[in-house]
Amino acid sequence: MALISLGLEGTAHSFGAGIVTSNGEVLSNVWDMLLPKEGGIHPREASQHHAELGPDIISRAFDEAGISPNEIDIVAFSRGPGLGPCLRVTATMARAISLALKVPLVGVNHCVAHVEIGCFESGFDDPVTVYVSGGNTQIIAFAGGRFRTFGETLDIAIGNMLDTFGRIVGMRFPAGPIVERQAKEGSKYYPLPYSVKGMDLSYSGMLTAAKKLYDDGVPLEDICFSVQETAFGMLGEIAERAIAHTKKRELLLTGGVARNNRLTEILEGVAARHGAQFHRVSPPLAGDQGAMIAWTGLLQHQAGDHLEVSESYVLPKWRTDAQDIIWRS
Ligand code: AMP
Ligand code: MG
Repeated sequence: MALISLGLEGTAHSFGAGIVTSNGEVLSNVWDMLLPKEGGIHPREASQHHAELGPDIISRAFDEAGISPNEIDIVAFSRGPGLGPCLRVTATMARAISLALKVPLVGVNHCVAHVEIGCFESGFDDPVTVYVSGGNTQIIAFAGGRFRTFGETLDIAIGNMLDTFGRIVGMRFPAGPIVERQAKEGSKYYPLPYSVKGMDLSYSGMLTAAKKLYDDGVPLEDICFSVQETAFGMLGEIAERAIAHTKKRELLLTGGVARNNRLTEILEGVAARHGAQFHRVSPPLAGDQGAMIAWTGLLQHQAGDHLEVSESYVLPKWRTDAQDIIWRS
């Protein structure tokens, strides 16, 4: 009999509930994102969004899956990393469900879940993963029992950089797709800080410089073009170094920024040069959602990795490489 897992995701502005079976069927994947009227995400407002909409999103996930709550075998939740108030609200719902339905509770690392759902969709065993989103920018690969972070941003995430730049120039949130559309119209390259430090990168200097170009009256489409070429070129460089040194045969692109076609094109080129397969996670599974938590929770559950409710405190700074990945050999 296949096991059925409910996964709750609530690390930042999105709350999601997904139901997945151990046969690899995604039965439902419902989510909602807080759209701030102005400015960025306020952790308290995001947690209130999750508390208000969470129960209804969970009910809808059951309805769409066509199962009743007492059919689930486990409940998994995003334990970290993320915004403390959001994590706590989500964990509280998961604990209540675990106690009420008497099903095991599993704490999932959000970044690990992005990698595992990408492997689930692509059939990849052991990829180098480029995980790019509103809050994270990491190059991840499995080595020595853990998902190692081979490189990451030293300051802001790439999605955050795109969204903040967009806000400055009057785009609505999320600005990533709007920057992509504008960039298609641009053609003149304006140099921006290309900040690769070893395997790490930095995006805050680029944000300041792009804002200055805007203040100087450079056409917006050319700034967007230049931002994309520089920001994605940096990612391409460290992804290529990771592939070259680890000699892995698969390159996976995941996270909300994976929707970007220009970034995809650059990474496809990297994979082709090294004879590696490439996969970009499809939009429904690329951003933050519950199915990735449900699926990774199942992998952990089947390996015997559970949490007692009394021990299920959240881990806002849980690093990708701080968890023993006992379900992979
Ligand atoms: P996530 O944090 O995984 O939910 O992803 C959201 C982030 O993805 C936001 O920063 C968006 O601006 C970004 N994003 C979504 N679509 C695109 C796109 N086509 N190009 C670049 N960034 C994007
Ligand atoms: Mg994410």
